[in-house]
Amino acid sequence: MIEEFGRLSKGDIISKFSDEHEPDPIAEALAEIERFQEEEGVFSSHRPSRLEFPLDRQQIRNRLEHSMEQLILEATDRCNLRCRYCTYSGNYRHRRVHGTQTMGWDTARLAVDVFADASRETEAPALSFYGGESLLAFELMKRVVGYAAKKVNHRLAFNVTTNGTLLKGEVVDFLVENGFLVMVSLDGPPEIHDRMRVYPDGRGSFHDIMSNLLALKQNYPDFYRRKVGFAVTLSLLDEVETVADFFAKNGELFAGRPVSVSHVDSIDTELFERGILPESDAGPLRRFYGGIEDALIAGTELSPVAKGLIGNNLRKLHERSPDPLGETVHANGICCPGARRLFCTVSGDLTVCERVNQGLTLGHVATGVDSDRAAELVEEYVALSAPDCLNCWAVRMCSLCFANIFSDHLDMSRKRTVCEIMRAQVLNNMRLYCSVRELNPDAFDRSDEAV
Ligand code: SF4
Ligand code: SF4
Repeated sequence: MIEEFGRLSKGDIISKFSDEHEPDPIAEALAEIERFQEEEGVFSSHRPSRLEFPLDRQQIRNRLEHSMEQLILEATDRCNLRCRYCTYSGNYRHRRVHGTQTMGWDTARLAVDVFADASRETEAPALSFYGGESLLAFELMKRVVGYAAKKVNHRLAFNVTTNGTLLKGEVVDFLVENGFLVMVSLDGPPEIHDRMRVYPDGRGSFHDIMSNLLALKQNYPDFYRRKVGFAVTLSLLDEVETVADFFAKNGELFAGRPVSVSHVDSIDTELFERGILPESDAGPLRRFYGGIEDALIAGTELSPVAKGLIGNNLRKLHERSPDPLGETVHANGICCPGARRLFCTVSGDLTVCERVNQGLTLGHVATGVDSDRAAELVEEYVALSAPDCLNCWAVRMCSLCFANIFSDHLDMSRKRTVCEIMRAQVLNNMRLYCSVRELNPDAFDRSDEAV
């Protein structure tokens, strides 16, 4: 009935559904839909006519020249682990494989120079180290931090993403001294973590990481509490409850720590054909979502994994714009390329972000960022996406971006596969959000970090 509303007249809708319902309940339902449409802007058949990026060419140029937010250095393309689902494992088409290089000092220095110049007006600039395993490039990191602290504006913050195996000794002292934000990859209990996150000889990395975390917490409790977070890759959906239990039960290490949860990228990969990952059963994930729903209705705090899995999306839904859809809609999740995050590869290419890695080049450390190229990328993305997005009900809840469209070019067939996944997630989140608010209307109004 909702689908026909606005397309057919009320009389036609009543006759279309007359075999299943009496006219009066249909008329009441239509009046209800109409009321929601007027008061809440939902069930509208209106579609916007323009997909736009919020910045024009000049504004893109200004962002790239004065207020760049984050430089991410691919400090090395080497890694001491061989995680089976790794993007660089050779199981992904269009992605590099593990390499042997560490970024040279000249490349790093030039990248910092580009960033120092381009972040003059940035409130809180950040310099992040990425890999491979960034801590394998510790000598370079020390030199870069010393140089960048003098060169970039005084509010500069440092981040590192690490597999946690080298998080000890002088490395830790250095990270603490420089106030690094440290994101450690940890997938759950040993039987889950060690199935995927292994050394080249096949040994699991769980126990090394846990003993490093315990020592870090013991030696620097305040730093641990404020600066350490975790990245979980959920390789099998049917293990979600076990993973969540692990983080909930080891409260001394994980309570109050941010946990981000991602899934293994299932596109352009041979992980499934090669039997590295079996297809998972989504039943346990549905049950887990049921538990999240119960917790939200009861007003109790979500577990770290539940928050990492869905918290941001629910908050985004709750804080959505109440305005009806106008003629123009913004291009979903794309950022100003190179301004929110500028990725510098080990050889000095400047690209859109670490997720597209070597693709979508915006320049080189020797020549800087080409803002015209950034603007062209946005225009190309918008032109390709507009026919689909303007007719998509999820357009204001969608967070797809360059990383989702890029294979070895801006690839709409790849993007459409991700669109299906995105729409299913948004629908799921909306169902959960509505069921919770029906029974606990204030569930999302809490000012603490419960959701
Ligand atoms: S630690 Fe990261 S880069 Fe290294 S193999 Fe694992 S997923 Fe890949
Ligand atoms: S799901 Fe796809 S079609 Fe829909 S808004 Fe997002 S990118 Fe556009």
